[in-house]
Amino acid sequence: MTQILDGKAVAERLRGQLATRIAALDFKPGLVVLRVGEDPASGVYVRNKDKAATAAGFASRTRHLPESTTEAELLAEIAALNADPSVDGILVQLPLPAHIRAEAAIAAVDPAKDVDGFHPINAGRLASGLPGLVPCTPRGAMHLLAEAKATLRGARAVVVGRSQIVGRPMAQLLLAADCTVTIAHSRTRDLPEECRRADILIAAVGRPEMIRGDWVREGAIVIDVGINRLPDGKLVGDVAYAEALPRAAAITPVPGGVGPMTIACLLENTLEAALARRA
Ligand code: NAP
Repeated sequence: MTQILDGKAVAERLRGQLATRIAALDFKPGLVVLRVGEDPASGVYVRNKDKAATAAGFASRTRHLPESTTEAELLAEIAALNADPSVDGILVQLPLPAHIRAEAAIAAVDPAKDVDGFHPINAGRLASGLPGLVPCTPRGAMHLLAEAKATLRGARAVVVGRSQIVGRPMAQLLLAADCTVTIAHSRTRDLPEECRRADILIAAVGRPEMIRGDWVREGAIVIDVGINRLPDGKLVGDVAYAEALPRAAAITPVPGGVGPMTIACLLENTLEAALARRA
């Protein structure tokens, strides 16, 4: 029987564990989400983050700056949050308006408060096998692999996608867990064959149901990071779920798999950052 990896349930459990740990502290870890402009999807994300953070006991707030904010003004805002001892985690909600360079904003965040794990110092730490703050979505995927009781040591892992926010950090985490890792991308030759070698297959592409059932090895664990909205409004992953389901030992659904883990891991990062800063 294929195990369906229920990200909603795992995320809820993780948030509960974080709430218990926070209740035992004599302070509330502080999280600030910086939003610039009016990107409509960001509005929903930011509200969800705020709600989940507050419910778990964080001191969470959103700083919403107008679309007309200049890059220099945003960097000054970040510098003030870096210097504020009550702030443990800073998240710059992407996308930013076109006149602000995302990489400049990301690099301005104190790496010790970079709860998105996107700062080049944290990316470099991860690539060097050093402790640091890790991007939330790959961290969530690792929790789901633990839920699947996957044996990672020596396993063949194939990560399809090499973005800074998912594919690359995902591959680094799997490598750190002693997997033999292949990173595939749009220039990979014979992608189906690469995927068929995987004991652990991670899809982070952004193309609806691109990975077909017969690309999945019998007994593989499949983590589908993709979230794609079809013209009829339905959400699907990067994996053809119905085809892959009977072949996989464990698989994440979309929605309800990796998606819900991201915010829970943001909170996990914020608590970690708060404790590390006070250690
Ligand atoms: P991205 O930055 O667009 O990167 C996509 C990656 O897929 C690139 O490395 C690209 O290769 C590769 N790719 C594109 N077409 C391909 C093809 N035909 N064959 C093989 N590889 C191909 O996307 P992302 O930000 O990593 O996000 C990936 C997916 O995850 C999206 O659906 C996104 O919505 C979802 N996502 C979900 C969460 C969450 O669950 N909370 C968080 C983040 C992202 P090249 O590098 O060669 O172009």
